[in-house]
Amino acid sequence: MKILVANLGSTSLKYRLFDFSGGQERLLTRGGFERVTDYGAAIESCLAELKSGGWIQSEKDLAAVGFKPILAKGITGCVQFDERVLAAMETYNGIAPAHNPPYVNGVRIFAQKMPGTPLLGLFETAFYQGAPEAAMRYAVPDAWYQMGVRKWGYHGASHKFIAERSAEMLGREDVAERARRLYIDGGASPVKGPALRVISCHLGGSSSVTGILNGAGIGNSLGMSPQSGLPHNNRVGELDSFALPYVMRATGVSLDEAERLMCKEGGLKALSGGYNDMRDIVSQMKEGNAPARLAFEVLVHQARHWIGAYYLQLNGADAIVFTAGIGENTPELRAAVCQGLDQLGIVLDAEANAQVRAREAVVSAPGSRVKIMVIPTNEELVIAREARRFLEQHKQ
Ligand code: AMP
Repeated sequence: MKILVANLGSTSLKYRLFDFSGGQERLLTRGGFERVTDYGAAIESCLAELKSGGWIQSEKDLAAVGFKPILAKGITGCVQFDERVLAAMETYNGIAPAHNPPYVNGVRIFAQKMPGTPLLGLFETAFYQGAPEAAMRYAVPDAWYQMGVRKWGYHGASHKFIAERSAEMLGREDVAERARRLYIDGGASPVKGPALRVISCHLGGSSSVTGILNGAGIGNSLGMSPQSGLPHNNRVGELDSFALPYVMRATGVSLDEAERLMCKEGGLKALSGGYNDMRDIVSQMKEGNAPARLAFEVLVHQARHWIGAYYLQLNGADAIVFTAGIGENTPELRAAVCQGLDQLGIVLDAEANAQVRAREAVVSAPGSRVKIMVIPTNEELVIAREARRFLEQHKQ
C-alpha cells in the first residue's frame, strides 16, 4: 500500500511517498517545490516525478494522499476531506490565517486532479482530544469560547510520534500500542504497568512543549493559535493580550501591521537583533553577541517554564524528549534547559549530550531518574500511518 503525504504551504508543496507493503514501513522518495504560483501544476509535477522515478505507474497506485491540516470547527482526528470538512476549516480561517486558507485551496485542487483517490487529513489538534478541559480553557466570555477562543494545542503529529517512539525506547510496548491506537479507540487500550509520563519538547522554527500521559497529550504550550507559547523563529509566542491595544493606541500602528510585526518580526529574530536560525544564534552567542545570548536564554527559560508545568501536572516524569530542528541539533540548548535540575531527578550526561545531533540517543547520566532523550521527529510518517489505519478501518 503506497501513501503519498503532502505538506501544503501557501507557496510550497513538499511530499513524501511511503510504502506499507508486506508489513514494512518504507520511505520510497521525497521531493518538493518552492515558490509555487500554480498549485495544479505543482501537483502534476509531483505526480510526474513519482511516475518518472518508477515509484508509481499511475495515480491509481496511491491508496491515499495524507495531509497535515491544523484545525477545523467541530472536527479533529484523521478524517476524509469532503466539502463539510473544508467548510469547517474555513470557519476557523481567522484563527489560522497562515495555515487554513492554503490547505483548503490545496486540497480542493488535489481533489480535482485526483478525483478517485481518498484525501485524508490528520488534524494537529487531535493529540489533545483527551486533555482535561481545565487545561484547554481561557477565562473569556462564553461567546468568545463558542467562537473558538480556547487552547487547541498543535504539533500533534510530532508529539504523537514522540509518544510512540519514546514508549518503545523505554521498553513500554503497552503504552506504545496505546499511543498508536489513540485516534482509533480514544485511548481504550490497556496500560499494563505504572503510568508513563513523558515531556516532549518540539523546538524548531516553531516550538511547543507537551505533557504526555500513557501516550496521550494532556496539554500543549501552543494555545488558540499556532503563534503562542514559546518564542518561535519570527513569531512572538506568549504575549500579554493587553500589550496589543497598548502598542496600537500608543503608536497608531494598524491591526494588520501589528499582526505582521508579531508574525514576521517577533520571536528569536526580535530578541537577537535579526537572527532567526539557532545555528546563527549559537555562533553569535559564542562570539559575545549579547542580544543573541538573550534570545537563546529566553527560549531556554520558556522551555523550562513549560517542562516545569508538565512535570507538576504529570506528578514527575519518566522522560524528557528533545526533538525538531533545534531540539535535535543543539547540545548547548539541551544542556542549558537541563542545568541544575538534579533535585528533580534530571541529570544530563554532558559528554554524551555534546556528541548527539540528529539521531536517537539517551543523553541523561546513568543515575538520572528522568531519562533525557533525543528523538528525531517524523510527522510525515505519523500522517502516513494514520492514513493507513483509516483505510483499514474503513475497508468495505
Ligand atoms: P524545524 O521547524 O524542525 O524544521 O526546525 C527549523 C529550525 O531548527 C531552524 O530555524 C534552526 O533554528 C534550527 N536548526 C536546523 N538545523 C539545525 C542545526 N544543524 N543546528 C542547530 N539548529 C538547527
